[in-house]
Amino acid sequence: MAVSIRLQHLQWAGGAVAAAGSVMLGTTLVLSDFRSVRHYDRGLEELARFRSVMDAATAISAERGPANSVMGEAGPPPPGLVAALVAKRLATDESLTRLEAVFDGELLGSPRFRQDLKDLRDRLAASRLTVDTVVGRPAGQRGGGEIAGAILAMFAVADDAAVLRDELGRGIARTLPQISAEIMLQSAASALREEAGKLGSYVVMALTTTDERRHGEIAADFARTAGRVRQQWALLSSYAGAAIPGRAVDDVLAEVQTQYFAGSWVRAHETLGHEALAHGTLAHGTLAHETLAHEGERPETAVGGRPSAAAFTAAYVPGLAAAARLRDRLGELSREKIETQRRAALRDTVIAGSLTVLVAGILLALNLLLSNRLFRPLIAARRQIVAIARGNLSEPVQPARFGREIGEMFDGLAILRAEQRQKRVLERERTRLTRQLQILSETDALTGLPNRRAAGERAARALAEADRAGTGLAVVLFDIDHFKAVNDTHGHAAGDLVLAQIGPRIAPCLRPGDLLARYGGEEFVVVLPGIGAADAERLCERLRTALCREPIGQIPGLRISGSFGLATREPGSSQSWDALVSLADQRLYRAKQAGRNRICAADPPPAECDAA
Ligand code: GH3
Ligand code: MG
Ligand code: MG
Repeated sequence: MAVSIRLQHLQWAGGAVAAAGSVMLGTTLVLSDFRSVRHYDRGLEELARFRSVMDAATAISAERGPANSVMGEAGPPPPGLVAALVAKRLATDESLTRLEAVFDGELLGSPRFRQDLKDLRDRLAASRLTVDTVVGRPAGQRGGGEIAGAILAMFAVADDAAVLRDELGRGIARTLPQISAEIMLQSAASALREEAGKLGSYVVMALTTTDERRHGEIAADFARTAGRVRQQWALLSSYAGAAIPGRAVDDVLAEVQTQYFAGSWVRAHETLGHEALAHGTLAHGTLAHETLAHEGERPETAVGGRPSAAAFTAAYVPGLAAAARLRDRLGELSREKIETQRRAALRDTVIAGSLTVLVAGILLALNLLLSNRLFRPLIAARRQIVAIARGNLSEPVQPARFGREIGEMFDGLAILRAEQRQKRVLERERTRLTRQLQILSETDALTGLPNRRAAGERAARALAEADRAGTGLAVVLFDIDHFKAVNDTHGHAAGDLVLAQIGPRIAPCLRPGDLLARYGGEEFVVVLPGIGAADAERLCERLRTALCREPIGQIPGLRISGSFGLATREPGSSQSWDALVSLADQRLYRAKQAGRNRICAADPPPAECDAA
């Protein structure tokens, strides 16, 4: 089965398939890149939440400083310290509110997290109540054990916050493995800040307790916490530089070294060393000499008496800020890394989208170009070819645009059209010449009358018509009398003039449809269709009279006469042309015999022929 497919449709179908394919491919790429962008967006949201959790954890830890100071006062706490504690508590509450806000959607969907957060708030409130109970005791009645209990309650709240932080960190590391190192290091920095804070709190416990047995426990807790601080620090100082490209964290690491370890850390050890010495539980310098600080950077200790909890806290806490900055710097680096990847994904999305639009546009333009410059002109060319074949050679309306090759085709068609026009002109000329030739072949040159051959042809048609119509017909043959004598007397030219004048003399007597022809020499034939014998004879008489009426060409003495033979064909007769002519010729001969200038219309007796 032959399937006829139009090339133009094929072209459109091909173009559409190619465009659809490229659009689908491009859309897949765009969607994939766009999904990456959304993935990084979610990653950035997660990081913001992570940051909020760490802020909340830091705020909870930071509350311990002023709380310790207030509890550590022997007398009524100075209003400045109380105000500082209130301010820190307010800051913690705000950071928890912010945390709830960034988790708003999550909170609705995750009852567990909501419960965790509620537990955190409850535990925080309980720990604050413990602190407030201690502070509310009259001066001198604040037991060291009670203060330690309040501090431990605050530790527990901080531990809860750390659990939340690490849970969230694990989730982010799963979602965005590319920043898992940064997330772990942030957790470590946060834990460093937390453990370092606890270390200070143990010193406050030691400074505020009077129970000798408690001193030993506090010193042991201090040593354990210091060990954890060292662990976190070892992790951070060795891995942060390695995991973070460039020297982005080196300066903050150096700050932790100088501001915390060479400052607060040494002060804590020395203060506790002093306390331990005073209580005989710790050899002087056991921990202090393990510090990472240079000897020269050791801060001044409270010489000649133990510092108050507030004084120690005021000196210790600023050193913790470097650890918080380290955590923040790591957080910024994670965010920058994800933002860079998000920008790259967004750029890829835009590039893929633009390329898709570009490719689809090019395909569309190519299709339009092919359609406008090839297929439409081809259809126009086909129409022109058909028009030329059908003989329509008028100048066609050319398409507005077409390719060069198609243009050459139109040029070829223009040449073909011009040649066809030329051919048509030549054909017309040939037809005209043929017609002229035919006229010439049928016309006698001297008289301008039909010649004998034409007379035969036309007479045959007249006979056929008479047969069809059932009418009669008459044939007259007449001959100029003594024509040789005309030539001899007046010259051959005068003879020619006589012959040329026969038509003008005879024709006025004939009816339309009658035929007058030169039959040969000075002999003429007249065919009279639809006429009876009597009318034909009367007409013959008029012809004879017209012939001899006056001299020819005003030549004196040039008068002529003619002898007529008439043959009539009755309606229904089957007489042939030759038979009729032969009969008329016989009668003409008899008219001559009878003396010329007369008509013979019947067979003998010859006496019936009219005398002139
Ligand atoms: P008749 O009365 O018996 O017919 O005598 P006639 O002289 O007419 O007949 P004849 O046959 O003896 O002579 C005819 C002459 O007609 C002879 C010829 O030279 C002349 N003739 C024939 N055709 C032409 C022509 O075209 N031009 C001229 N000038 N003469 C012609
Ligand atoms: Mg004659
Ligand atoms: Mg003759």
